[in-house]
Amino acid sequence: MAEGPYWNEQVETMSAKQTRAMQAEKLRAHLAYVRERSPFYVRKWEQAGFDPETVGGVDDLAHAPFTEKQELRESQVSDPPLGGHAAVAMRDMVRVHSSSGTTGRPSYIGITKADRERWTEVVSRVYYTEGVRRDDVLIHGFGLGFFVGGLPLKDGIENIGATFVPIGTGASERLVTSARHLGGTILTCTPSYANYLAEYIREKFEASPRDLGLRRILLGAEPGGAIPAVRDRIADAYGALVTEALGNADICPVYAATCDELDGNHFVAPDQIVLELIDPESGSLVDWEDGAEGELVATHIERDCVPLVRFRTRDRVVVKTSPCACGRTGARIVCVGRTDDMLIVAGVNVWPSAVSDVISEFHPRLTGSLQVLLEAPPPSVDPPLRIQAEYGPEASDLEALKDEVEGLLRDRLIVSTDVELVPPGTLPRFEMKAQLLRHTYKEEPTTQLAR
Ligand SMILES: [Zn+2]
Repeated sequence: MAEGPYWNEQVETMSAKQTRAMQAEKLRAHLAYVRERSPFYVRKWEQAGFDPETVGGVDDLAHAPFTEKQELRESQVSDPPLGGHAAVAMRDMVRVHSSSGTTGRPSYIGITKADRERWTEVVSRVYYTEGVRRDDVLIHGFGLGFFVGGLPLKDGIENIGATFVPIGTGASERLVTSARHLGGTILTCTPSYANYLAEYIREKFEASPRDLGLRRILLGAEPGGAIPAVRDRIADAYGALVTEALGNADICPVYAATCDELDGNHFVAPDQIVLELIDPESGSLVDWEDGAEGELVATHIERDCVPLVRFRTRDRVVVKTSPCACGRTGARIVCVGRTDDMLIVAGVNVWPSAVSDVISEFHPRLTGSLQVLLEAPPPSVDPPLRIQAEYGPEASDLEALKDEVEGLLRDRLIVSTDVELVPPGTLPRFEMKAQLLRHTYKEEPTTQLAR
């Protein structure tokens, strides 16, 4: 049990030189493991002419091909249940999580007992960095079922010794009363939920969110927690310190966190993951230096089940490598957007292509043409997600059809929608790839992140 400023001082304050040496050694061993266990990577590397034996250090990783989310999905379909990249048998997995996929089919992520311990260690570092201590009573406002922001976070928070209160989503009244009865000191949730809850407390309880007496709000699952305006608004409403954690379902639930200096999220898992920065257009490496911007690419160097090599996270980030007063040496990473069209609705990832897949199941009652309407710049969307879909010439009882479509979208994609059915032929048609997103807001010329 840690007492000082770090959960794992050795890893969190390691010099850049030591980190690279450790990563090179682990990377070589792990690539050998992947080649032995993963038919998916054997095939992929052969096709790309990449030989893992030629990898000496982390820089050589650049010769390996990228792994895309879409490939993982295809691999799970052709080689069930977890894909040709699973690397272990089902009997060795102790848990399976799911993340949303680019289509209506969920994407499964398994972990072995050792993987669970690895996650728990990193989650402990993350939340310790965000100030969670043994005396804290932590009210958990992220979804608890299937989602990696549920049980894995519970494991890490309990590992610190804090008291974990599993509220989950969609239970605001229970959240407020439990926080009061149990003396909650910390709340974890998405930025959009923190804002919603503040309003809820004012209206429903005719009280100030400050009356909850929370010391800290730990944000995640949506970008925004690092944007000063977003953070300040929540901090002011609750009278609490606001920080965030970054993660990725396919890599590790959380792997970077804001320290009390509030200047980006320290990467705290260099012993399990190697990060690279690339130009999302050309795929070429971007130098990992202070202020660099690009797409984050992640490689596991310790992972039994579903190990990934050069996985494109599609997170567009800015990295800060200047020294931080807290003493942690891990670069600070701030997510500034996405390099694909994924949306985040109340913390849940939603791809427009997945919406389209669900809509197409209603043919011929729906024509299949649709548009997702965005009232603010993506990726974060306040629920419900607004969708226009065309009904077919033969469709009847549009009210019931609307309910049915919204119901299936909720079941499949865990997203709350408002579907407007419009007459056939009224939505634009596209020769090539359909443009599924329509902006109804004014374009802002500048990035939303103050640097
Ligand atoms: Zn720091």
